Amino acid sequence: MTSTCDTCGWPARDLPTVSTHYTSQGVLRYRRCVCGAWLVLLNGQPVRAAPVVSERHGECPADA
Ligand SMILES: [Zn+2]
Repeated sequence: MTSTCDTCGWPARDLPTVSTHYTSQGVLRYRRCVCGAWLVLLNGQPVRAAPVVSERHGECPADA
C-alpha cells in the first residue's frame, strides 16, 4: 500500500517528517509535501480529515 499526497500524488515516504508525536493511538507523523500540502500519518497510514463521530439523523436534543 502506498501513501501519497492527496493533492499531487507525491509518495509520502519520500517526504521529510516535520514532526513526530507519540499518542495513545500510535505514532503520528506530519510530513510536508513538495506541493505545500500536509500529510498526516498514523503508524504510517494516512489519516483522512478527522472522522468526527457526531453525525446524527433528525434528532434535536431539547436543550435550549
Ligand atoms: Zn503534494
